[in-house]
Amino acid sequence: MSAPGIADPALLRPALEAVGLTKRFGGLVAVGGVSLTLRVGELHAVIGPNGAGKSTLTNLLSGELRPTSGELRVNGEDAMRWPAWRFARAGIGRSFQRTDVLREMTVLENVRLAAQARLTPARRLLRSAAAEGPPIAAAEVAIARVGLSAAAGRVAGTLSHGQQRQLEIAMALAAGPTVLLLDEPLAGMGPEESERLAALLRELARDHALLLIEHDMDVVFAVADCMTVMVDGQVLEHGTPAQVRGSAAVRDAYLGHAA
Ligand code: ADP
Ligand code: MG
Repeated sequence: MSAPGIADPALLRPALEAVGLTKRFGGLVAVGGVSLTLRVGELHAVIGPNGAGKSTLTNLLSGELRPTSGELRVNGEDAMRWPAWRFARAGIGRSFQRTDVLREMTVLENVRLAAQARLTPARRLLRSAAAEGPPIAAAEVAIARVGLSAAAGRVAGTLSHGQQRQLEIAMALAAGPTVLLLDEPLAGMGPEESERLAALLRELARDHALLLIEHDMDVVFAVADCMTVMVDGQVLEHGTPAQVRGSAAVRDAYLGHAA
């Protein structure tokens, strides 16, 4: 297989594309006409104050919520009516919330189960919990990728906060996604752990389309290739970090008095 060139259609085609994507909760427009494109090799940061609609957007892009209107394409295919499992099957991965980590199980078991849950039907999952198989290899690769190999045998509940977030990313990686949607993966981390995870995100963006929701502007401006700024469900600005930093609209509405 030859190395992909710049004209490779698989690279030019967005992995995930939203156009005018909207989600209403009753009378509330949580996400109102958001357009964005995620490409493999790019780290796309979404910033905005609390309540801006960032998590709702993530849930739309991962298939957990169904959009009210707009367009949503995964690898060029219309995904507006897809059930959630089709998003996972099509390579859309997201970080798990902490509650999905089984605290009494080891790192390896957690990642294996995450891989199996996505790759195999539920009945096989029940049967093969103790069996060897491809999920182990996939899990080990994912654990190594996030730098947790030395802790693979540890019980998840004993990990540091930062390691637990690494574990969540490994769980998302285990199914081999092309798109990674990470909703505040650095939340609650100290500066050192934060820096390490930021470096990991940068590394993962080389072979994934990565969407990062993050409040720490130092981190965002350091790692993002492109940014979308949301306020009240709408896109206020979109562009490179330099463009966003220079935007008067962003400064007025957000950066000047960010939480
Ligand atoms: P952010 O992640 O940017 O803080 P959210 O996407 O969580 O914002 O929320 C955007 C808006 O949508 C908020 O006003 C929130 O209260 C509302 N919202 C989010 N999820 C729901 C839901 N399931 N039902 C009703 N309103 C919701
Ligand atoms: Mg949120």
